[in-house]
Amino acid sequence: DVSGEPLLEIVDLSKSFGGVRAVDGVSFQVARGSIVGLIGPNGSGKTTALNLISGLIPPRGGAIRFDGAEITGLRSDRIVHRGIARTFQLVRVLDELTCADNVMAAIAFRRHPSWGEKARHRAATLLARVGLAGRDEEPAGRLTYIDSKRLELARALALDPKLLLLDEWLAGLNPTELQEGIALIASLKRDGLTIVMVEHVMDAIRSLCDRCVVMNTGRTIADGGTAEVLAAPEVVRAYLGG
Ligand code: ADP
Repeated sequence: DVSGEPLLEIVDLSKSFGGVRAVDGVSFQVARGSIVGLIGPNGSGKTTALNLISGLIPPRGGAIRFDGAEITGLRSDRIVHRGIARTFQLVRVLDELTCADNVMAAIAFRRHPSWGEKARHRAATLLARVGLAGRDEEPAGRLTYIDSKRLELARALALDPKLLLLDEWLAGLNPTELQEGIALIASLKRDGLTIVMVEHVMDAIRSLCDRCVVMNTGRTIADGGTAEVLAAPEVVRAYLGG
């Protein structure tokens, strides 16, 4: 029964850059429908882990299993088609295009071109889903920071993911935007999406994450329920010492 298995399973994953062991024997699992926080000090290997899962870089060793199949070493576009989408720490949208065209470009990646007008309707629905209702014809380059983040999220959702990887999606938001952002991520979970989020905003981690995996110098130093993990002495030490 595939539904009892974790959606994502990372086994002994590693990656080096020159002499730096950016990810050094990391293992963790992500249950279907859950939100897992990937946390740790700067330089601990979190973004590298996301890059490995999304196939942007090949691992040196270890295995990545997703939705019942091994995806280790697959190209990033193949991994998108398997059902993993992500956002980036530095927002990536196409500034010259309208919001709708940004989302339709992502839809076109997953759907047959004959989708035509349906794609435009789907783009409008996705823009509304992330809080950009009616903004379809606005140039993406004119969006505020939070709205460009919303647009990038709509583009990720347009890829029909089962697993969404968020790289500091909540960073740099003001308190009001942060509450809206947290509510939006919570609503994605209610819709059945599984999420791995690299995040530093502790309030967000506490309110959203079912579990947390804590990394330090490329290794996992804690993995468990969020409240328990955040109270663990080695986690507190890594953050204060880092
Ligand atoms: P985090 O996301 O936790 O801040 P990173 O995954 O970005 O950590 O980085 C982990 C380590 O790997 C750091 O020492 C960083 O300098 C190094 N690193 C990351 N990407 C590269 C790269 N492309 N080339 C060389 N070193 C890298």
